[in-house]
Amino acid sequence: MLFEGENKMNKTLKFWILTLTTFTMIAILSSSLFSSYLVTKKSLIEKSLEQNEMYALKLGKLSQEVFKAMEANLEARKPDVIGHIDNPEELTKILNQLLISGKNFNSLSVIGSDSIAIATSPNVGIAGEKIDSPGVEEALRKKEKIITKPYKAVTGRLLILVSTPLFDDSGTYLGMLNGSIYLQEDNFIQSILAEHFSQDGSYVFVVDEEGTLIYHPNIVRIGESVRENKVVQSLLNRKNGALEIYNTLGEHVLAGYSYIPESKWGVVSQTPYKSSLEPINGIITKMFFYSLPFVILFFLLAYLLSEKLASPLKNLALSTMNSRFEGVPGVSGKVSTWYFEAKQLTETIANYRKLQEEEVANFKHQSLTDPLTGLKNRRYSALYFADLLEQHTSFSIISIDIDHFKCVNDEYGHQTGDETLQFLANKMMSVVSEKDVCVRLGGEEFVIISPNGTLDDTYNLAEKLRKEIEASILSQNRKITISAGVGEYKANRESVNELFNRVDEALYVAKSEGRNRIIISP
Ligand code: GH3
Ligand code: MG
Ligand code: MG
Repeated sequence: MLFEGENKMNKTLKFWILTLTTFTMIAILSSSLFSSYLVTKKSLIEKSLEQNEMYALKLGKLSQEVFKAMEANLEARKPDVIGHIDNPEELTKILNQLLISGKNFNSLSVIGSDSIAIATSPNVGIAGEKIDSPGVEEALRKKEKIITKPYKAVTGRLLILVSTPLFDDSGTYLGMLNGSIYLQEDNFIQSILAEHFSQDGSYVFVVDEEGTLIYHPNIVRIGESVRENKVVQSLLNRKNGALEIYNTLGEHVLAGYSYIPESKWGVVSQTPYKSSLEPINGIITKMFFYSLPFVILFFLLAYLLSEKLASPLKNLALSTMNSRFEGVPGVSGKVSTWYFEAKQLTETIANYRKLQEEEVANFKHQSLTDPLTGLKNRRYSALYFADLLEQHTSFSIISIDIDHFKCVNDEYGHQTGDETLQFLANKMMSVVSEKDVCVRLGGEEFVIISPNGTLDDTYNLAEKLRKEIEASILSQNRKITISAGVGEYKANRESVNELFNRVDEALYVAKSEGRNRIIISP
């Protein structure tokens, strides 16, 4: 609601309180949502890094276990293999059994020291042939337990060889027993890791000791070197851990990694940064809606409080505005003031108004009063006559003059003259009735106005005054007398001035006839 004095530039206090409250609430809400966003983001990142690290460790351990078992299987059948080294048929049987019981190798082979394949399982048609693949060459050269780098076999497959050397009792090198893992086909690594495929784009990959991919969900990439990946560099330094990185493809990911000492491989589990933070929008939205009832409640409270805060000042403003039209600012009506400032303002304004009223009354009184005698002055009499005329009230007047007043001044001084004037004024006041008005027009000219007074009554009053004065003894044993003219106002026939002229003529007659007498104007 607009009230007078308020406009679009001057908003109410209530408006400003509500604006401030709303602004504060928005600021608090958004800053708390923003800080929650930051905290949630940090914890989601930490959680994802931790999960990936744990997962990489778990997979690393699992792989290590399986790997050890695979090696143990090979070792366990070594004496058998050495015992039948010259019998390919028997060797094939042994390898078939080993393949079924071990399960973890894609194929097994026994290769002689001359790099001729003696037996294989399953039969891939290379028995009796010279094998000159890089893995076999490496194993023959080293004559020790090795895991080869990934290489392309004669069959065209990308594979890794887990190889153990064969020596007879005399220590003669006979060749080697190999288990191979086909990297781009179903293999044991995949059976362990493939579960980790996930909707959110998380996946696991495995690198060998040189940073070459030996397992990756995208099989096309197997065999590719990812050495420049920061996580892989850590793995090449044989470390476990977790990092937020940009991977080889430039994707922002949160990666956990674990080094497998047995095979010198590294397992990396990674989740795209974006999917790790996916829950954040939901969390922040939930927080917003959870806090919404409180915000609404707070706003309602603020609204009520603003009404209560602003109402004393509003009432005060309205009430001073109303009283402004009465000329003096003040508080009209009751203003409830329940807090210090409003109470103080109300009181101050009320006091100020009271003071103003008193002063105005005082000024008014002074402006209409004769300071020497305390009688009404000429200004008052003019107003009073106007009043009487307006009310059509009949009235009579007595015009009084002290006889030989000049002599009082001359003989006793001006001070005594003043005292004499005061004496006369007091006498006038003491003889008149309540309705009569005593006026000092100036100098030693006095008038008594008697509303509704008849000529006779007024004459009697004048005579009474004259006699009392005559009988009085003033200071310094002085005596004075007065002369007066009396007249009644003739309504519609004369003006007040004309009445005065008549009465002054009568007064003049009184003077000229010897003073100390009252003459009625005819
Ligand atoms: P009369 O009988 O004819 O009236 O003689 P008078 O001496 O009274 O003559 P008049 O009325 O002309 O004299 C007025 C004197 O009043 C003149 C002045 O000195 C004196 N007077 C006027 N106002 C004041 C006043 O306020 N105080 C005093 N002490 N004297 C005043
Ligand atoms: Mg005179
Ligand atoms: Mg005189």
